[in-house]
This record gives sequence, structure tokens and C-alpha cells, in this order.
Amino acid sequence: MSTIIDGKALAAKMRAEIKTRVAAFQAERGKEIGLAVVLVGEDSASQVYVRNKIKACEEVGVKSFSYHLPADATQQQVCGLVDELAAADNVHGILVQLPLPKHIDERAVLRRIPPKKDVDGFCAENVGNLAMNRETIVACTPFGVMKMLEEYGINPKGKNAVMLGRSNIVGKPMAMLLLNADATVTVCHSKTENLKEVCAGADILVVAIGRAKFVTADMVKEGAVVIDVGMDRDENGKLCGDVDFEGVKDKASYITPVPGGVGPMTITMLLYNTVLTASRS
Ligand code: NAP
Repeated sequence: MSTIIDGKALAAKMRAEIKTRVAAFQAERGKEIGLAVVLVGEDSASQVYVRNKIKACEEVGVKSFSYHLPADATQQQVCGLVDELAAADNVHGILVQLPLPKHIDERAVLRRIPPKKDVDGFCAENVGNLAMNRETIVACTPFGVMKMLEEYGINPKGKNAVMLGRSNIVGKPMAMLLLNADATVTVCHSKTENLKEVCAGADILVVAIGRAKFVTADMVKEGAVVIDVGMDRDENGKLCGDVDFEGVKDKASYITPVPGGVGPMTITMLLYNTVLTASRS
């Protein structure tokens, strides 16, 4: 019987701690912590994500500055706004909701965010510092996974960790965090040969590929820790992960559910990073 890692409970606990830290910052410095959220265009999923982020800010007392530019905003307008936010003293973190409309050069926009305000941890300087195991700002989702492992007393040191997926926002930073935590890390992707065997050798298996219920029990070692980052829809349109939870749960020692696992941790870590950037300012 495995332990279900409760991301919702950990997120609630962390948000209460963050709220206390936000209040302490305000009392000490006499000003609020500010997070600017930039949305360009009308993508409905992005609008939901932005709303949730703003609501989470309100709950912990972080002041959010919300900017919604039209879908036909120019590169110059988007970059101009980011430049203004970069210079603003009351803005401690800047988040540009991705994806941006096709005609906008995303990388050029992200480059305008000063590393010290990069609460998503996506900029080259922060990614480089993570790779060198130096002080940095860590991308929210993988950072949340590390907090979950810590909360459940799972130490990656010396373990075989397999990261399934190599995206810039999840797979790569997750692999670096596990390596920094002294795991022996293998990163798998769509070209990996013998994927099943590689996964089945993992003591810690983290999955972020965006394929509903892709990881089945035969890909999981008895007693492995299984972390499911995926947010997919099953054949009935129900939210599910990249792992076949029902099939895998009795084989794993620890497993995250979807929903209620990694998902709630991501916005929590955004709040955490915002407090971090404010305290370093
Ligand atoms: P992504 O950018 O699409 O990357 C997917 C990765 O999976 C790629 O590296 C790809 O390999 C690999 N992959 C795809 N199919 C594969 C297969 N059949 N076998 C082996 N590898 C395969 O995805 P992402 O942004 O990392 O997101 C992954 C999942 O996590 C999605 O479901 C997403 O919704 C979810 N997510 C959740 C949160 C959260 O807060 N819970 C946050 C972010 C993402 P190649 O590189 O070779 O193409």
C-alpha cells in the first residue's frame, strides 16, 4: 500500500507560512510585496491561470498588478511594459504568462525580465545558476516537487532518479534539482530507447510528458516514488496525469495523485519565489 502525497495539504500549509512572511516583510519594510502579471491576448486557459495566480496573491497578502494587453499588441508594447515593470520599485516579481501570441518573440520578452524579478525561474541566468548549484530562483513546478519530497522525508541522495520529459519548464530543471540533491539522474524523452526498462529501474520516477496515463505498472519498480506532473484529460474528458494512478498506486511506495498532487504546489511556489525576490531586494 503506497502513501499518497497530498499536494493540496502541503500547499495549504506553505501558503499559511508565506502569508506570515508577507506580513512580516510589510511590517519590517513598510511596503507591500508586489507581483506583476502580464497577459497578452485572449487564450482562455491562460486567462484561468492568471486569475488563479491573482487570487492566490490576494489570499497571502501579495499585491498583484495585472496587465492585459490585446492579442494584436506589438513586440514594442509588450517589451515596453516589461521594461517599466523591471524599473518599478513596488514590483518585486514579474510573470509573463506563456504562450504569447505567435507574432511576439517570446524569448526577447523574457530577456527583458531582470533575473532578480524572474519569479518563474525561466531566465538564462537563473537556469545557469541552478545548473551550477548556486543561489538562484527555481522554476515553480520542479521546485514544488522538491518540497513534496522533503515534506515526506524522501531524500534523493544516492537514489536512481529518472526524469521522464525534458522540457525547459519541468524536465530539465527537475533533473538538475535531483542532481543537486545527489541523486543519480537519467533524463528520458521521446527518442529514448528501452524506455520501460529505464523507468523500471527508477527509485524516484518523475513524469512530465503530457500523455494521459502513459506510465503503467510494468514501468514502475516495486517501492518506487512516483511523481506525476502531467495534467491531461482521459477518454471521458476527466482530469488525469501522465501516470496510470490506479494501476501504479499499489506498486509505488509514494505517489502523487492528479488532481491534488503537484498542481497545487506550482502556484504556491510562485508565491514563495515572489517573497524570496522581495526579501532579496
Ligand atoms: P512539453 O514541453 O510538451 O514536453 C514534453 C516532454 O515529454 C518532451 O521532452 C518530450 O520529448 C517528452 N515526451 C513526449 N511524449 C513522450 C513519449 N511518448 N515518450 C517519452 N517522452 C515523451 O511538456 P511540459 O510543459 O513539460 O508538460 C508536461 C506535462 O506536465 C503536461 O501534461 C503539462 O500539462 C503538465 N504540467 C503540469 C504543471 C503543474 O503545475 N502540475 C506544470 C507544467 C506542466 P521530446 O523532448 O523528445 O519531444
